[in-house]
Amino acid sequence: MPNEQDPVPLQSPIIDRAERVVIIMAMEAEAAPLRDALGAQPLEAPVWASGLPCRLSHASKTRRRPDVVLAVNGTDPIYGVDAVGSTAAALTAHVALNLDRPKPDLVLSVGTAGGWLRAGAEIGDAFLAWPHFACHDRRIPLPGFEVMGLSELPAADLRSHASALGCRLGIVSSGDSFDESKTDRERIIANGAEVKEMEAAAVAWVGHLHGVPTGALKTITDLVDSPVATEAQFVENLATAAETLRSKTLALLECLARDDRG
Ligand code: SAH
Repeated sequence: MPNEQDPVPLQSPIIDRAERVVIIMAMEAEAAPLRDALGAQPLEAPVWASGLPCRLSHASKTRRRPDVVLAVNGTDPIYGVDAVGSTAAALTAHVALNLDRPKPDLVLSVGTAGGWLRAGAEIGDAFLAWPHFACHDRRIPLPGFEVMGLSELPAADLRSHASALGCRLGIVSSGDSFDESKTDRERIIANGAEVKEMEAAAVAWVGHLHGVPTGALKTITDLVDSPVATEAQFVENLATAAETLRSKTLALLECLARDDRG
């Protein structure tokens, strides 16, 4: 049952600069170009997390970027594929936010996503989450729980960087399925999302529990309402999308490191 306490206040803090950023990614193919470009070195997980699949790496702060911890969900030890989806994303985010390191200024969920022709999306478009995250497949029609299921958690306000990055702004809606059921479609039309993926809302929830603003940078691999099958589009566009994720994430990190005070 809903408890009597007031919910934790929800805010979208403006993030112009950051000293420390944690990046959470789902698939190794999405993460590899960025990890290479950062020159990120393997980071050992704490003992309590050493049996978990997530893969951690670290790149120190430079003049051009903040200190970065890159955490990738890793390979599912039971099924042998990338551990995509909200459960692994939440676990990875929890590990990455509980390292023996100073608290980050920002958590970023970075990855591929679906978009819609009806919303004017094109393959290769990049989005920053704004103004909030949502979930489209958590349907709990009970008092208090319905709203929890919608999971409309605020996104960190990264709007000042959007034009420099060539990013659009939009609501990012997460669900644990790659396809879009009829019910998902109705709920996404209702929640106004322009981006559909499987992790961001889970990362935002964990970020919120740790008091760290959460943003998302997503690039479109597939158009859900196109006549071409979503999986075929995804496979065809994944490698290009990973390059886009590399370049846009580096550009965002550069914006966050810039010191305009001269
Ligand atoms: N079939 C793929 C697995 C992709 S799982 C393979 O065999 O490799 C989908 C991953 O891409 C998730 O991490 C999700 O966040 C993202 N994604 C991209 N397009 C999506 C879409 N249309 N719907 C949901 N998730 C999508």
